[in-house]
Amino acid sequence: MINNHSPWIKQLKRTRPVVPLDKDISMNVAIVGGGIAGVTTAYFALRDTNKTVVLVEANKIAHGATGHNAGQIASYFERALSDLVEEFGVELAIDGQRSVESAWVLLDQIVSEAKLQTPIYRFTGYAGLSRFDQVILHLKNSRYRKEHGLIPESIILADNWYKLADIPEEFKDLYSFVPQKDLLQLLETNNTDYVACLSYQKGCMNSALFSEELIGYLIATYKDRFSFYEGSPVTTVRLNDSKSSLEVLGYKIQAERVVLCTNGFENFSIINEAGPEIDTNFHHSVAGRIGYMSGYVEPLNNPPIAISYFPKTDKNSIDPTGETYFYLTRRPHEHEGNDAYNLVCTGGPEKVLPNGAGYSSQDSYSEDARDSIDDFLRSNYDKHNGETEYSFCWHGLMGYTPNGIRRIGQEPSNPVLLYNLGCNGVGILPSIFGGKHISRFLNDEQVERSIFDPYDQNRNA
Ligand SMILES: Cc1cc2nc3c(=O)[nH]c(=O)nc-3n(C[C@H](O)[C@H](O)[C@H](O)COP(=O)(O)OP(=O)(O)OC[C@H]3O[C@@H](n4cnc5c(N)ncnc54)[C@H](O)[C@@H]3O)c2cc1C
Repeated sequence: MINNHSPWIKQLKRTRPVVPLDKDISMNVAIVGGGIAGVTTAYFALRDTNKTVVLVEANKIAHGATGHNAGQIASYFERALSDLVEEFGVELAIDGQRSVESAWVLLDQIVSEAKLQTPIYRFTGYAGLSRFDQVILHLKNSRYRKEHGLIPESIILADNWYKLADIPEEFKDLYSFVPQKDLLQLLETNNTDYVACLSYQKGCMNSALFSEELIGYLIATYKDRFSFYEGSPVTTVRLNDSKSSLEVLGYKIQAERVVLCTNGFENFSIINEAGPEIDTNFHHSVAGRIGYMSGYVEPLNNPPIAISYFPKTDKNSIDPTGETYFYLTRRPHEHEGNDAYNLVCTGGPEKVLPNGAGYSSQDSYSEDARDSIDDFLRSNYDKHNGETEYSFCWHGLMGYTPNGIRRIGQEPSNPVLLYNLGCNGVGILPSIFGGKHISRFLNDEQVERSIFDPYDQNRNA
C-alpha cells in the first residue's frame, strides 16, 4: 500500500496549535475553508475592507487541494479560450483570461506586503503538442489573444512536420518554425511525436507553505479584526435576507456575509430561509476528481521548469473519460537538511469520483497512477534515467464545476452567500484573483458581469 505523502505538507514546519471554535461569535464576514482560496480571500477582505473577518477550517490550513497539488503557477483554464469565447462571447472570455493573469501582480503584492519567504520561481513554461487538432486549437486561442490585447503564446512548429501545409492561411502570422531537435530540446524530450511547442510565463511554489505563512501574517497583523479556527467543520449554513448563521461544533457564528472557499460543496448543508432552495443543486454542481502525482528528488543540475505534454493518445490514462495530459515541474528542494536538490513532480492521471462517493486524504495512492506516470516519464522526459524511486506519491481532490470555470461571486438566490470555489484543475491564480474579486462584493461595489459569476441554479442555466 502506498500512503498519500505530499512534499508540500512535509515542508510545513508549523508550531501553531489547532484552536477549534469554543464559543458563539458574531462577525461581519465568515470565510469557510482554509486553502489558498480562503486564506487569500481573508487577506483581501482584511486589507481592502474594514470588516471583521473569521476564517473557519474543518481540518488544518492548506491540507486540502492546496497541500496536494503540483504547485505550478499557471494562468490557463482547463478549457480552451476559443471555447470560452463560444460560451460567453469574446468580451467576457477575454476579460476572464485577463482577470486570471492579473493574479500574478496580486501574488507579487501579497508577497511584498506580507514579506513572505516562501520561494516562488518564475520562468518560461513549455507545452508540447503532438496532434494537428491540438495545434489548430492553440492557434485559434492565440488569434483571440492577439486580436484582443493579450500577449499571444509563442508557438513554434517543427519544420519537418508533414502537416504544415494543412494549416489554414489565417493562422500564418501566429507561428514560426525550428528544426524539430531544437523544439524537443525545449521540451526536454527525445520523443519525436511532439511537433509543436508553446511557451508562456509560468512559475511554481509550495502553495501550502504560502498559505501557512500568510495566515501567520494575518493573525499577527489584524489582531482586532481577525479570528481564525482550525479543526472546526461547518455543518450547516443558514441564510436569511440580511445575515447568515453557521453551525460549527455545537456553536454558532453569525455573519452578515459568508464566503464558501471549500473547493467543492460537500459535507455541509445550506438552508436558504429567504428564497429558493440552494443546497441540492449545488451539491450536484461540483463534481469531484482525484488527481494523482509522483515526485522524485535528484541533484540540483537543472533550472526550475514547468512542461506540459499532450501525447498523441492517452494510452497512459487511468480514467477512460477524458484526454489526459501530463505536467511536470522541477524546482529546488530541501532534502534531508540539504538544499542542493531538485524535486521533479509529475501529474496527469485523474479519477472521477462518482456522485455521492466519499474521498479521504488518508486513502492509499493508486498503483495504476504511479505506473502510468512512470510509463509517461520513461517515454517522454529525457532527463529521466530509468528506474525511479519516488520519494513522494500523493493525491488530492479537485472540485470541477459543470463549465470548468471557478465560481466567484454572489449567490443569485441570496447575496448573503458568496463563493470562491471550484478547483477545476488550475486553481492557484484563480483563487488569488477570486479573493480580490470577493473583497469588491464585500465593499458593496457595483461589480461588472464576469465569466466567474455563479449562475442561477434555479434557472438550470
Ligand atoms: C493533484 C492536483 C494537482 C493540482 N495542480 C495544480 C497546479 O499545478 N496549479 C494550480 O494552479 N492548481 C493546481 N491544482 C488545483 C489547486 O490546488 C486548487 O485549485 C487550489 O489549491 C484551490 O484551493 P482551495 O482553497 O479552493 O481548495 P482547498 O485547498 O481544497 O481548500 C478547501 C478547504 O476547505 C475546507 N473545508 C471544506 N469543507 C469545509 C467545511 N464544511 N467546514 C470548514 N472547512 C471546510 C477543507 O478542509 C479545505 O482545507 C491541483 C489540484 C490537485 C488536487
